[in-house]
Amino acid sequence: MCTCHPRINAINSPDYLPVEILRKLQWQKFQAVLNFTYSNVPWYREKMKEKGVKPEDIRSLDDVRYLPTIVKTDLRDTYPFGMLAVDMKDIVRVHASSGTTGKPIVLPYTRRDLEVWTEAVARGMAGVGITSEDVLQVSYGYGLFTGGLGAHQGGEFLGATVVPMSGGNTERQLNLMRDFGVTAIACTPSYFVHLISKAEEMGFDWKETKLRLGFFGAEPWTNEMRRNIEEIAGIKAYDIYGLTEISGPGVALDCVYQSGPHIFEDHFYPEILDPDTLEPVPDGEYGELTFTTLDKQGMPLIRYRTRDITRLIPEKCECGRTIRRFDRISHRSDDMMIIRGVNVFPGQIEAALLSVEGAVPHYQILLTRDASGLDNIEVQVEISADKFSDTHREIDQFQKQVAAKIQHVTGIRIGVSLVEPGRIPRSEGKARRVIDNRNK
Ligand code: ADP
Ligand code: ZN
Repeated sequence: MCTCHPRINAINSPDYLPVEILRKLQWQKFQAVLNFTYSNVPWYREKMKEKGVKPEDIRSLDDVRYLPTIVKTDLRDTYPFGMLAVDMKDIVRVHASSGTTGKPIVLPYTRRDLEVWTEAVARGMAGVGITSEDVLQVSYGYGLFTGGLGAHQGGEFLGATVVPMSGGNTERQLNLMRDFGVTAIACTPSYFVHLISKAEEMGFDWKETKLRLGFFGAEPWTNEMRRNIEEIAGIKAYDIYGLTEISGPGVALDCVYQSGPHIFEDHFYPEILDPDTLEPVPDGEYGELTFTTLDKQGMPLIRYRTRDITRLIPEKCECGRTIRRFDRISHRSDDMMIIRGVNVFPGQIEAALLSVEGAVPHYQILLTRDASGLDNIEVQVEISADKFSDTHREIDQFQKQVAAKIQHVTGIRIGVSLVEPGRIPRSEGKARRVIDNRNK
């Protein structure tokens, strides 16, 4: 990393604030955003009235637990601008969530909101060494989805050369990556896996590129997937986490130790809540990741429940940052499948599959319901072109190995069927891992 660049030097300094100072700063900002929201958003005032709390009852960060929480349906109910805390004339941009799980929700940004978001992404990117020497290919979708513009702004802020590819046109993505001397890419992990397969098909050699790292996020992915990507493309794969409601990508980002994304806590105050009682749990325990936006003006959110399940890591990271990290998101609470009474997550299946030698990360989970109302789950796994030419016996053995691994990880027997190369639909954005045909 270029340490002679003053802006880059300065940009990461809030990552290392002494913890007491960080908490003090968070508390000051919390009070300000609470008062601001209470005064400007009638919906929120009503919600606090129902709970019987006023801003002055909250006297420390510990008291935050007495405030109401906000969930996605609250944002849908106030669609599109019911939660606005400023005049519409102060809004300079609007984004919307990708609507993976229903009607999209709308996020208005003031100029300052865009600055904070940009700074967070840039901080994360600078933290793993992105400088003005880099060429960043942004292959997240551009548009209402925050991925494309979010990564774009961060890279541009650092002076990197940004290539705004957006998703799709996979062959061209690879050719331009090589021709433009791209050093870093930002896209969903599933899209990068798609790039890898395309590269294989085209006889594209990763060694002919200058690519050295990628920012992968917007969907859950596993450490097994990370290893797979790093080995094949010869790069470092960093986890970037974010959600539209809070600002977009860059709420948290891996440091070079890749041991859980660091949350930019001076902007986004994290809590982990027990999903049943909604009580905060101590660092180290799993629960629902919840954020308060400490600097947002357009649509500040206090205690927004993300539905993402993880834990805050209590140990200090080797990099010395004091901003906390969370463990990889194990799943979204609405991704959980209950099969014969057992909780199963797509990530478990991915981890099991990729731990088998020769497996490629193209899979889909099919849920069906039989006549007696019993739920069935089947995993469709694509085999690589190499494997496809193996003998029947070898393919059979591979299938058994995958099934055994999945049973070992999930604790239940799950049907595995192998499909020919190219059968599982490729995604340009977020992969659709689970096809739920139970109500069909
Ligand atoms: P939608 O809820 O419509 O998908 P977004 O596009 O804002 O809306 O996506 C945000 C969600 O994407 C997060 O709440 C989380 O579930 C998922 N996500 C984003 N980044 C990551 C990541 N690095 N790891 C796991 N999940 C992620
Ligand atoms: Zn670190």
